[in-house]
Amino acid sequence: MKIDISKSLFEKAQQFIPGGVNSPVRAFKAVGGDPLFIKKADGPYLYDEDGNAFIELINSWGPLILGHNHPAIKEAILKATELGTSFGAPTAKEIEIADLITQMVPSVEKVRMVNSGTEATMSAVRLARGYTGKDKFIKFEGNYHGHGDSFLIAAGSGAITMGMPNSPGVTQGTARDTLLAPHNDLKAVEELVEANKGEVAAIILEPVPGNMGLILPKKGFLEGLRKLCDREGIILIFDEVMTGFRLAPGGAQEVFDVTPDLTTMGKIIGGGMPVGAYGGKKEIMEFVSPTGPVYQAGTLSGNPIAMAAGYAMLKHLHDNPSIYQELDKTGGKIVGGFKDTLQRLGLNYSMTHLGSMFSLFFTDKEVVDFETAKSCDTQLFGKYFQAMLSRGVYLAPSQFESFFLSTAIKDEHVQHIVQANEDSLKEVL
Ligand code: PLP
Repeated sequence: MKIDISKSLFEKAQQFIPGGVNSPVRAFKAVGGDPLFIKKADGPYLYDEDGNAFIELINSWGPLILGHNHPAIKEAILKATELGTSFGAPTAKEIEIADLITQMVPSVEKVRMVNSGTEATMSAVRLARGYTGKDKFIKFEGNYHGHGDSFLIAAGSGAITMGMPNSPGVTQGTARDTLLAPHNDLKAVEELVEANKGEVAAIILEPVPGNMGLILPKKGFLEGLRKLCDREGIILIFDEVMTGFRLAPGGAQEVFDVTPDLTTMGKIIGGGMPVGAYGGKKEIMEFVSPTGPVYQAGTLSGNPIAMAAGYAMLKHLHDNPSIYQELDKTGGKIVGGFKDTLQRLGLNYSMTHLGSMFSLFFTDKEVVDFETAKSCDTQLFGKYFQAMLSRGVYLAPSQFESFFLSTAIKDEHVQHIVQANEDSLKEVL
């Protein structure tokens, strides 16, 4: 595969941008080789600057559930730009999207739009602290909630991939207020709450983590957390930045029928534009400024172009709920194909699948938490990633990120992906 233009762009980028990239995992450090510079994308395909085409299973790290350049979203963006790019004042579109979100995610009675998932999680934890008057919160090992200081403690995805579970620059004081629990271990959380009785403001988690690869909740785990939070007066926050509008119109909380107090959202909610949101019980959300004392603001929050893109995306999903069954079927075909291959090749690698998310873990352990995720052979994943890339399939350059499907992936792409997987495994093993 010829990647001369990408190579020279990467050299130049490193002169002006730290590591040549604006988000660390994009540098391909964990998988070897140089990153590809992308020129354009359409439907299920990414095209790099050298003219190579790839079927992609990242979709911009999750947002593009309808594939690239979906006509409904493109049209909404183009129309919105004709009216101006930013007003810094209320618009009718903000009400429309907030109304639609509250219909799709019933636990969200009121919602505040922000510009990224990171802003959403930072704001939600601040709100929980302000509302309860307590300082500490619990997060789970391997869960990723963006790059807010308090979350960069045993964080998943990029942080594991880059081998930096704890970042310099996060103060001891901040770290002290973040309590860590093993994922999927209800007893450990109960003990942690008991040891910090009356001091825990919130428990935040990815109800279905995708940032140590896709991990499914153990039976009773989410329900147990709900009960514990009710009993102890703790705010339960589901971080659905990745799973929101992806696993179902109402996210993981709809699939598992467990209702959080607050939900953080991002990715799909922006239709490919930079958007995040947090919302939940009216009584808690009214604690946010200007109705309440907890300050949170944003120059570009509720930006009219971003709101138009996000609204078009959510409306399309809301009006076409069969999309979720289709995505699950496509996922089933790919995962079924991968499992057949693994069996034929006598390999015991672990796989997980839920709807439009799935993972192939290079370990024979069942992956249920951070410890088992870390048992993966990441060097082998790097080789596999390159082998898939050379066969025209673009994966997330990290073992610790779920694969994401879009509705643009059709049967012919499924066949290509399954064949590429078999050929790649044969090459790297
Ligand atoms: N929360 C989860 C579950 C995420 O997966 C991410 C990003 O991958 C974030 C929060 C942070 O979102 P952003 O990258 O938009 O700041």
